Amino acid sequence: MNPAALITGASRGIGRGIALELASLGWDVVINYVSNEPAARRTAADCHAAAQAAGKCIRAEICAADVSQGPDRLRLIEFTRAAFGRLDLLVNNAGVAPRVRADLLETTEESLDHLLQVNLKGPFFLTQLAARWMIQQSRQAGGAGGVRPKIVTISSVSAYTASVNRGEYCLSKAALSMLTLLYASRLAEYGINVYEIRPGIIATDMTGPVKEKYDQLIENGLTPLPRWGTPEDVGKAVGAIARDLLPFSTGEVINVDGGFHIRRL
Ligand code: NAP
Repeated sequence: MNPAALITGASRGIGRGIALELASLGWDVVINYVSNEPAARRTAADCHAAAQAAGKCIRAEICAADVSQGPDRLRLIEFTRAAFGRLDLLVNNAGVAPRVRADLLETTEESLDHLLQVNLKGPFFLTQLAARWMIQQSRQAGGAGGVRPKIVTISSVSAYTASVNRGEYCLSKAALSMLTLLYASRLAEYGINVYEIRPGIIATDMTGPVKEKYDQLIENGLTPLPRWGTPEDVGKAVGAIARDLLPFSTGEVINVDGGFHIRRL
């Protein structure tokens, strides 16, 4: 029986890169999305192809659910249970940028609420649901198939970098760092490791509108590794966690940012 992962926001971008990597490692995947069903279907088909190319046989299921909504989160977990009967990895990836990049002095309450609901409340309560299930699972003989369940949350370099034209995004991402520490502390006794992945500048739809700005910054030396990151870069980091390559690390931050976090003089 394959291990099973639930990846939020996996129809496109970073989540899609994670789903493809896990599929190629032989994981069954639930591909969550909010509205773009064609993209989710494409990702599912590509997961099958990636697995096949690696000589694996997997299942990839798609599930529409808005992570900011309680009933949707419950349905997503129940969907995963019905599809695979187990959950070995939750990846909290779904996230949104502000609809308008507004100066901190102009940030609206509506935008702050929206960002916190999708980027923070969603992962917080989805993790709670997943953790309860994982605890039940690990109480049964050595967990489902002996795989130690894990939780990964995709935050951002914005967790510690102040961008005054999207303060609400930075706040939501900074809070995810504490979410990781909290759940890592709480779940350690059950052998459930919890990780935060901090991507840097990654080429996806989210960064499409600011492509030229970041092209310029990267060309001018913003990152020691002088290139855009890709969803595959983040997928590989999640793949390492999925393969249990970091068994004695929990509450750990993994930077996937081309060295952006290094202070340089
Ligand atoms: P993206 O290309 O805009 O894709 C967003 C994904 O999230 C889509 O699959 C979308 O589904 C889904 N989604 C959006 N709102 C949702 C909701 N309420 N419930 C469920 N799914 C939802 O974004 P991305 O660049 O891949 O970003 C993925 C994550 O990485 C985000 O948390 C983002 O903050 C973080 N991140 C991105 C970068 C970057 O440079 N791109 C850097 C650091 C961190 P639909 O297809 O149905 O719309």
